[in-house]
Amino acid sequence: MQRATSITGVWFRTDLRITDHGPLLEAARLEQARGGAVTCVYCLDPRDAGPTEQLGLARRGPFRSRFLLESLADLRSALRAIGGDLVVRRGLPEQVLPELAREEGWAALHLHTLVGTEEEAVEEAVRAALPEACAFRTWWDRTLVDPEELPFSVREVPEVFTKFRRKVERGGSYPEPLPAPTSLASGPAAASDPGDLPTPEELGCADLVDDERAVLRFRGGATAAAERIDAYVWSGDRLKTYKKTRNGMVGADYSSKLSPWLALGCVSARQVQAEVERYERERVRNDSTYWLTFELLWRDYFQLITAKHGAALFRPSGLQGIQRPWQRDAQAFEAWCEGRTGIPLVDANMRELRLSGFLSNRGRQIVASFLTKNLGIDWRWGAEWFEACLVDHDVASNWGNWNYAAGVGNDARGFRYFDIATQASKYDRRGRHARLWCPELAPVPDRLVHAPWDLTRAQQDELGFHLGRDWPRPLVDLDASVAANRERWETAGAR
Ligand SMILES: Cc1cc2nc3c(=O)[nH]c(=O)nc-3n(C[C@H](O)[C@H](O)[C@H](O)COP(=O)(O)OP(=O)(O)OC[C@H]3O[C@@H](n4cnc5c(N)ncnc54)[C@H](O)[C@@H]3O)c2cc1C
Repeated sequence: MQRATSITGVWFRTDLRITDHGPLLEAARLEQARGGAVTCVYCLDPRDAGPTEQLGLARRGPFRSRFLLESLADLRSALRAIGGDLVVRRGLPEQVLPELAREEGWAALHLHTLVGTEEEAVEEAVRAALPEACAFRTWWDRTLVDPEELPFSVREVPEVFTKFRRKVERGGSYPEPLPAPTSLASGPAAASDPGDLPTPEELGCADLVDDERAVLRFRGGATAAAERIDAYVWSGDRLKTYKKTRNGMVGADYSSKLSPWLALGCVSARQVQAEVERYERERVRNDSTYWLTFELLWRDYFQLITAKHGAALFRPSGLQGIQRPWQRDAQAFEAWCEGRTGIPLVDANMRELRLSGFLSNRGRQIVASFLTKNLGIDWRWGAEWFEACLVDHDVASNWGNWNYAAGVGNDARGFRYFDIATQASKYDRRGRHARLWCPELAPVPDRLVHAPWDLTRAQQDELGFHLGRDWPRPLVDLDASVAANRERWETAGAR
């Protein structure tokens, strides 16, 4: 086989798409001009599936593993359709990439840079191990806004979201997505041995069972992302009511459900924003269409805050360094994880998370508040459980939101919590979500579905539903547990 004269490597990470992909587009343009080739690589890094720090959980649970696998298959097809390929290698990127660079004599390695201490460390290790002749070129794609265009540096990102958003919105517009390259010549690694895609067995998701109650069967890849945008925005015409429905908990369409595709970069925030703007031009522009952009800015915010604070994101005292007397009650934590605290609103959401890999934003906020403010348990345990379960895990969004929920992150203002009874009456008044995930509650009338402990003995007999037999007695009294934790925080001198 004849070797191309010049080769550029492109390292795919959480950017599994070919459209709006700066590193790929630039590699294609450069190598086309000089008759060279592009080697696209994905490394299956064993550390991505390794144990979490506090609890030793497998970081990437089966839902995310399957989503990854499907995304890789879709990316490989997309690259093959334009004459390229996806080279898949198992191992540490800091070994795999320099080895390929040496073998093929790469002129450069292109990649999207990421936030997160481990992500940054891997990047640095790859850069350091590359042969001298191989340039290291990075791009940024994790946000809707271009950090270079912001009126402040990353070190000056405001600690309060609203301040950040107002400053960003003064800019007025967001960058357009880039086109996909139209053709690509493959490097020799791809031609000789592109390597097998991982199997479900290898990624530990062969036995995954889909629960029919799940909001969606999330299918990985840019093709499925485009289908979801079409179903939600265009054929479903849901965007115009997003602001009214976004706090829902049941069904596919109360919110966009784009988070898994955004997390793995099957679609970029700029592409989603471009669809929002097209919808505003062609259908309607209202507070709902604006609100999707608003939520994408929350996502941006956590990315930039993570870039600003680095390792502080993961310490118990969080971004703001606020000391709290966190408990480490393994039994209570297990009850929370498994959805058997006896509090229907919490248990239904926790079962949904474990059995489907997804949870509504409302549900995430409720269960995070319950863990940290009713049980007083170390928020990092909750963040690790979410990391292991979620199909859409993203280090900045997950750990940033957990910081926020625990009261140690941005905008920390004393002991704030979600009152479970109020949340239940606002967001699941008739117990539809509770009964969906906790069918044991079926006999309980709507009025008491979120407080079955208030059933008298006679009512329990009449319904054939007994506390302690058909439903766990509540792990804590909701009001008393909040009061006790508040007092412990105040005694410990918390602000
Ligand atoms: C404790 C906790 C942990 C979370 N962990 C993650 C996570 O690991 N990955 C993740 O993508 N989101 C996370 N979120 C944010 C949010 O819950 C999800 O992004 C959202 O529920 C996904 O559903 P959707 O795509 O239908 O969202 P939509 O309501 O349709 O919003 C559109 C997009 O905006 C972004 N977005 C919306 N809300 C937030 C937010 N609060 N923070 C950051 N981005 C947001 C997401 O990319 C989302 O896809 C977490 C929230 C909490 C409270």
